[in-house]
Amino acid sequence: MEKKIVCHYGEIALKGKNRRFFEKRLVLNIKKAFPEASISAPRGRIVLIDKEEKVKEKLRKIPGIDYFFIADVVSSSLEEIKKSVISLMEKADFESFRITVKRADSSFPTSSQELSVILGREVQKKTGKKVDLKSPDKNCFLEITPKETYIYFEKIKGVGGLPVDSGGKAISLLSGGIDSPVASFRMIKRGMKNAFLHFHAYPTTSKQSINKTKRIVKILSSFQGESTLYLIPFSEIQKEIMIVVSEKLRVLMYRRFMMRIGEEIAKKEGAKAIVTGESLGQVASQTIENLAITGEVVNISVFRPLIGHNKEEITKEAKRIETYDVSILPEEDCCVRFLPKKPETKGKIAEVKREEENLEVEKMVKEALEKAEKVSI
Ligand code: ATP
Ligand code: MG
Repeated sequence: MEKKIVCHYGEIALKGKNRRFFEKRLVLNIKKAFPEASISAPRGRIVLIDKEEKVKEKLRKIPGIDYFFIADVVSSSLEEIKKSVISLMEKADFESFRITVKRADSSFPTSSQELSVILGREVQKKTGKKVDLKSPDKNCFLEITPKETYIYFEKIKGVGGLPVDSGGKAISLLSGGIDSPVASFRMIKRGMKNAFLHFHAYPTTSKQSINKTKRIVKILSSFQGESTLYLIPFSEIQKEIMIVVSEKLRVLMYRRFMMRIGEEIAKKEGAKAIVTGESLGQVASQTIENLAITGEVVNISVFRPLIGHNKEEITKEAKRIETYDVSILPEEDCCVRFLPKKPETKGKIAEVKREEENLEVEKMVKEALEKAEKVSI
């Protein structure tokens, strides 16, 4: 029997008139990941024929795919279906089973329920094994479409969400910590292509944070395709801030510069939002007052997808997407150096602005941008 891979999308199927747009994007993304495959998109599903070894691993990471399966394909006639299901079940090893039918073709003469009963009886007769609807050893799924029927045993979960590049571009601020990679992943899953921005203190510190960030970007690229990473030296800005800004406002001031530089890079990249890994109340710089002070310097949307999440939830997700092990490697975070003992938790915008007047903001931003290094990962 011929094998095909069938991908189902969840959320896209709910789109009204825009559905074709999302479908096309998803087909394109799959084509990019499987250049050798033959791909078709009959209504409601995307079907691939491909010999690639890493099919499962790759499809699991393509946003927009809700679930997929690798199926034996037969023509949609009752006799063919019966014959194939029995032959497959006779070869399989199990004690209990069930047949689960989904009929995408309402012109098929037998109802899903009837068909599962008919097939169940036949299999029982031929194998002597018992039906167990609740927790069978083997679940034989059938999906009947007008042209062909798919028979498979394993539904594989994808990341879901929307296809990358259907939702615009974002600049994601990546620190090398646990949170920001998860935040980026969330936006990738909502269809945004992310370009990354990392501030480092090299050569004042080692290259650890740069290397970590590169590894994290590589993992995130496995979900969104090749990515751009901007590495921005931050020591000069930090030095100047340390000289003129009072200790308790330093971190806030760092963040304001990160945002400004983020906005400039967004303009260059045609991005319409900045993404951060901030979560309300997690640290002093992430109180409601301070988030407003940080976001106030830019005229672009700031997305904080983790704002309402606990560290525990974020950590769990970081483990799932496999950025966690890299994030916890030791590093010299540029912002951890010279950290104030008592950071302001309720910054006042007037005070921050007053202190900022002593800095040559535009010049500092411009110089940092000039020293930016751009890499593709
Ligand atoms: P993370 O785990 O992502 O480091 P965090 O909870 O440690 O987050 P902070 O270190 O206060 O929080 O940083 C808040 C956000 O600011 C980060 O999630 C990230 O988006 C951005 N950020 C912080 N430091 C950097 C950096 N060196 N380069 C780029 N972005 C940064
Ligand atoms: Mg951090």
